[in-house]
Amino acid sequence: MESAENSARSLNFIETIIEEDLRNHKNGGKVHFRFPPEPNGYLHIGHAKSICLNFGLAEKYHGPCNLRFDDTNPTKEDTEYVDSIKEDIRWLGFRWEGEPKYASDYFDQLYAWAVMLIKKGLAYVDEQTQEEISRQKGVPTRPGIESPYRNRPAEESLALFEQMKNGEVPDGAMVLRAKIDMSSPNMHLRDPIMYRVLHAEHHRTGKKWCIYPMYDFAHGQSDYIEGITHSLCTLEFEIHRPLYDWFLDQIAEEGRPRPRQIEFARLNLSYTVMSKRKLLELVEKKIVSGWDDPRMPTLSGMRRRGFTPEAIRDFSDRVGIAKRNNVIDVGLLEFSVREHLNKITPRVFGVLDPVKVIITNYPEDQTEMLTLINNPEDESAGTREVPFTRELYIERNDFMEDPPRKFFRLGPGREVRLKGAYIIKCEDYKKDENGNITEIYCTYDPETKSGSGVQRKVKGTLHWVSVRHAVDAEVRLYDRLFSDEDPAGHKDRDFKEFLNPDSLKILEHCKLEPSLKTVQPGDKFQFQRIGYFCVDKESTPEQLIFNRTVALRDSWKKR
Ligand code: ATP
Ligand code: MG
Repeated sequence: MESAENSARSLNFIETIIEEDLRNHKNGGKVHFRFPPEPNGYLHIGHAKSICLNFGLAEKYHGPCNLRFDDTNPTKEDTEYVDSIKEDIRWLGFRWEGEPKYASDYFDQLYAWAVMLIKKGLAYVDEQTQEEISRQKGVPTRPGIESPYRNRPAEESLALFEQMKNGEVPDGAMVLRAKIDMSSPNMHLRDPIMYRVLHAEHHRTGKKWCIYPMYDFAHGQSDYIEGITHSLCTLEFEIHRPLYDWFLDQIAEEGRPRPRQIEFARLNLSYTVMSKRKLLELVEKKIVSGWDDPRMPTLSGMRRRGFTPEAIRDFSDRVGIAKRNNVIDVGLLEFSVREHLNKITPRVFGVLDPVKVIITNYPEDQTEMLTLINNPEDESAGTREVPFTRELYIERNDFMEDPPRKFFRLGPGREVRLKGAYIIKCEDYKKDENGNITEIYCTYDPETKSGSGVQRKVKGTLHWVSVRHAVDAEVRLYDRLFSDEDPAGHKDRDFKEFLNPDSLKILEHCKLEPSLKTVQPGDKFQFQRIGYFCVDKESTPEQLIFNRTVALRDSWKKR
């Protein structure tokens, strides 16, 4: 409670509920949260929102937070996903309580509860087809039709359920249903399916089971078994809540915490698809290089691209918790990323599209080591030495043959400052037969060395790299994967029609300052005047590869 009083912002609606429960000493004054992913894909930024919420509340109210894999659907689940999910949560900076938990750990208990419900006359085995069952469910405005098996004796259902469990029943031939109310206006209460037959191998329980509980019969009970007090989920489960509570009514015992389901709005991001099914399709069709392609909204993709956990947590805070669905501008996420990288990244010189500058009055064999500040935002980051020589690379688009008045970079007869070095003046240039600039000839003014105190007004400052010392690198420029704000929101059109054709540009001949020779995958930098870059996992000392994390400014704002 203490930290809540110290916090600057007002409480969100979930915190308000929790604080009231604490005041009332509900559940013995304890709180316990969980994050319940289904291991059927990699985590994405929407899951990060849920992780930050659950683990964040646990930190704030001093309770544990479990990691529970909701692994009730063996055909889509895999240990590869389990491992990636654990890695992503740790990377975000959160620690779950004890060992990871699995809904499949509770299959025996769930089975026992199902048997109990049959014995109480609250569940029955239905031998109709799925189609028949859903047809009988009807529409919310009119009562459904009761199954002819609804009132069969409990012993009969028990025997059949046993057969289902023992593998004597083929897939789809029978289901176990709860006997609730076929005329309820809430369709989820119209005798929902609890168990289905599925002869499939499970990534944890192997061949032990050939019946699997439905999500609704597993989730609330798993929460209950683990002593979860506040079970947070996204809005589409609001309509499931009466069923969540109905199952708890049947099993909950006095004196044990009873979980309360609370719904919040899922995070939607513009220019992004977030459903795991769609992300899997992008991976399987090789539209992206994998789940960790730096253009994917997955945490592994964002990590590879150079996003930091701090930035994602900050973004999650800024978005806040809403009760209504909305769409967040992906620019807000990029803003959080820039803000954090601005604080922590060393500044370096990297020329992405190099053209040669020759300083004709600079001694040919001279090298000056110039001292540059690593990060103006962080004094402790110190300085580094950068070699300056007669031949340098600058950015091709920092020179124009015939520049307009407002072009403050280099052009014939114009002066610019080379960052941390001297003022140079363009005297001449050379072109090849195709009209491309090949060399720019300049003179420098030795009086204007940075830090010498000689002040002269020039409008532009350029970054540069000494030709003799330059390190070669491949740079991958990433942009948004989709060029449409809501790629999945078009009727009759496939989301893949809205892929951005320019989402990846590879530049193979970039020139970097020599301090970058020894970088390691994951290292992050600001290439001055250009953006934030991160060393890719495929980078080696022989072939450096950098990913652009974000440009310095949001270029989509102007479009
Ligand atoms: P998807 O629709 O991407 O397949 P899901 O909800 O099926 O996602 P789960 O693995 O079941 O994926 O999700 C685990 C938890 O993360 C759930 O509690 C779910 O509500 C939450 N979650 C999933 N997507 C989002 C989102 N976009 N915003 C907030 N929470 C989310
Ligand atoms: Mg789900």
